[in-house]
Amino acid sequence: MSALGGLPQAKLLQWYDENQRPLPWRETSDPWAILLSEILLQQTQVSRGMVFWHRMVEAFPTIQSMADSPVDRVLKAWEGAGYYSRARRLHALSQLVMLPSSEGGFDGSLPSSYEALLSLPGIGPYTAAAVSSIAFSQPHACVDGNIRRVMARQHQLMEPSARDVQSWADQHLVHHRSGDWNQALMELGATVCTPKKPQCHSCPIQTSCRGRDTPTAYPLPKKTKVREVTLWVCVEFDRLGNPIIQQRQQGGLFGGLWGPQLHEGERSDAGNNEVYAGTVAHKLSHRAMTVHVYVSTQISPDSGFNPADVAMSVLDQKIIETASMSRYDSAYTFQKS
Ligand code: SF4
Repeated sequence: MSALGGLPQAKLLQWYDENQRPLPWRETSDPWAILLSEILLQQTQVSRGMVFWHRMVEAFPTIQSMADSPVDRVLKAWEGAGYYSRARRLHALSQLVMLPSSEGGFDGSLPSSYEALLSLPGIGPYTAAAVSSIAFSQPHACVDGNIRRVMARQHQLMEPSARDVQSWADQHLVHHRSGDWNQALMELGATVCTPKKPQCHSCPIQTSCRGRDTPTAYPLPKKTKVREVTLWVCVEFDRLGNPIIQQRQQGGLFGGLWGPQLHEGERSDAGNNEVYAGTVAHKLSHRAMTVHVYVSTQISPDSGFNPADVAMSVLDQKIIETASMSRYDSAYTFQKS
């Protein structure tokens, strides 16, 4: 791929200086707060990311505060943000960073180099480039979906490879303002060069754009395969009305979070001493889940947990809500077993 000459970098930076959204993580130079924003914003809308960023910064204002917390507390604070493996890895990262360098850690300070950041749990090339440039002014170019779209349109490319996009980003990086440059390109993609309605007339880099006459033709949309999954669950409650839930095994779906046991497949009807409570639909990035919820009409002799005290996924919260409503609506009398 030949380099596109004439990308008006100064114009884009000026546009960013004048038009950037006032996001809270742009008002801090604390690398930890910046890292939290970058991890939270992966596959999350900015408005939602902002809610969770405030929550996390308040709960864990320093790396040490997270390292000193049990992972369950981190998962509880992360509740609702999705992709819970990110929270578990962040916790592992905080504990590693707090270790002395003699034990392979970083003496309590987030490292500034791209390579050292990349070695930490949960940090991929994007996050390492974003944090090293934004928090530490290191000259590393980010590549994300927004930047890929801007690049594809600038060059009229249908399917630019990851290597081509990285190479384009590297060639055009403004070294003395690397953090601002990376953010300016991403901001342009998020607010002007948007997927469906790009505003080319007000784009600061329109003069170098080959795709501006037919911008939505580039790049081809990525096809995401979504797997349909059907599950069922029977929720039991204890005599205090708390659901019987367990902590899921690490590594699996919703690992480390709490919920009732889910079973794959369909069920034709409720089992003995059960009533059908309703069906819950839930979408993840690669899965469309349909969960048929049943409730046991028997009161469990075991002790349940108050959902407010443990970390639960949004899906599990919906399941418990559906089951709880049914207990009040059901014509069945719930019996002590
Ligand atoms: S001119 Fe249009 S298509 Fe080209 S980068 Fe700007 S907004 Fe995107």
